[in-house]
Parts: sequence; C-alpha cells; structure tokens
Amino acid sequence: MSAREGLPRLGDDPARTYRLGVMGGTFDPIHNGHLVAAEQVAGDLDLDVVLFMPAGSPAFKQDRPVSAAEDRFAMTLLATADNPVFEASRLEVERPGVTYTADTLEELRAAYPDNVELFFVTGADAIIDIVHWHDAARIASLATLVGVTRPGYDLERARRAIEASGLGFQVFYLEVPALAISSSYLRRRRAAGQSLRYLTPDSVVGYIEKRGLYGWEAVAGEAVGGQGRES
Ligand code: ATP
Ligand code: MG
Repeated sequence: MSAREGLPRLGDDPARTYRLGVMGGTFDPIHNGHLVAAEQVAGDLDLDVVLFMPAGSPAFKQDRPVSAAEDRFAMTLLATADNPVFEASRLEVERPGVTYTADTLEELRAAYPDNVELFFVTGADAIIDIVHWHDAARIASLATLVGVTRPGYDLERARRAIEASGLGFQVFYLEVPALAISSSYLRRRRAAGQSLRYLTPDSVVGYIEKRGLYGWEAVAGEAVGGQGRES
C-alpha cells in the first residue's frame, strides 16, 4: 500500500508549494468550535486542505472512557463532508498503540514531497501542553504550529511556554471567532437530555441519536480506554 493511500492528493506541481493543515483531536464528538477554528485558519493561512485527524487511542485523557474510534471517525467524516477544503483522515485510528502526533506528522512528511508544508492546528489549551508532548522536538521540526484562541484559555501564556521551551517551534497565533463550547460540554448536555442542535452539524446530532452515544445508556456501552492526546 502506498504511503499516500487515503490521503488527499497534494504536491503534484513542483513549481508551487502546498499547505496542508492537520487538526488533531479526540473529536468525541466533533463540534462547531473545531469547525469554525479550522475554517478560519484555512482562510487566514491559505491552506489547501485541513486534515481532521481523530486520535486512535489518545495518549492523554486516559482518565475517562472514549467513544469507539469508528464512531468518532464517522462523526468527523459527516461534519467535514460538505466543505471542499476539509478532509477526514483514518491515519491515527488505524495505527495500533497509543497515538502520538509526532508519528502522524512523520508519516505525513514521508507521504508528501518537499513542496507540501505541514501546519499543525491546536487550540490555546492544547498548545500550552505541546512542549511536554511525546517527542515535542520532532513535532517542532516537522510542522509549523498554529495556535488559535479558545474562550477560557490564555494564548499569551501558551506563547510564553513555547518560547521558554527552547524547542524551536515555529508558531502562528491566530484569533478565531469565539465559541465557548467543548466536546465535554456536548457530552454533558446529551447525558442530561438537552439539545445539541447548532453546537455541531445536524448530521452529527443525528448520528449521536441513532447510535445512542453519550446518553445514560452509553455509560455501560462500548468504550475504548483514554481520551485526548500525548503527554
Ligand atoms: P474535550 O472537552 O473532550 O477535551 P474538546 O472540545 O477540547 O473536547 P478536543 O478533541 O479535545 O475537543 O480538541 C481538539 C482540538 O480542537 C484541540 O487543539 C483544541 O484546543 C481545539 N478546540 C476544541 N474546541 C475548541 C474551541 N471551541 N475553540 C477553539 N479550539 C478548540
Ligand atoms: Mg480537549
């Protein structure tokens, strides 16, 4: 199987450069905060593609059960399907073992020619942790980081942590329209029988209802260990 199988085609014209964004997350479930952030970054940084990358077995968030990777991937696919710049990737859900972003970026680097530049997009909460992630220096050497604002988290603090790390991260800091929502918030609402409408696309709401995710009935249901990524 070629390294590029299942990945968007980029890099064919050697006379130009291509910009590939990677939006990592647990996406349990994906919500409009992720989508708005990715759309804004794609526009501001002129990205050719944003690859949404649900973590297979996330390295952190090991403290709570995470929905099955196939459900998180299906919701990611549904949420991104109507945007020509967005793609959902199975790279991490198919990789055995704990999911590390450094491995993902390395796989992408190997899959594309040098005229494809990698941008790893994270919210202000995740970027502050990234210096402690597994192989942070490797991440810094493989991709430019894009740190986006997120209500309740201080991007300025993240900037200081990144600078103090001395790991040589290249970072763009971007303001995105504030959506004070999280997957945890959606899960709590659903468990309390409250509506998820307008917090995530209708197709995702429908999938959650059809599969019975996050309700009281899901508590005893299928779950794989861990949530989140890294550290
Ligand atoms: P959870 O509550 O389960 O941690 P989450 O909403 O934080 O879920 P993740 O899958 O953990 O979602 O996050 C994936 C990425 O999206 C992270 O880089 C995170 O910072 C970013 N992100 C999530 N929600 C927002 C938001 N509302 N605005 C900006 N960035 C966000
Ligand atoms: Mg999170």
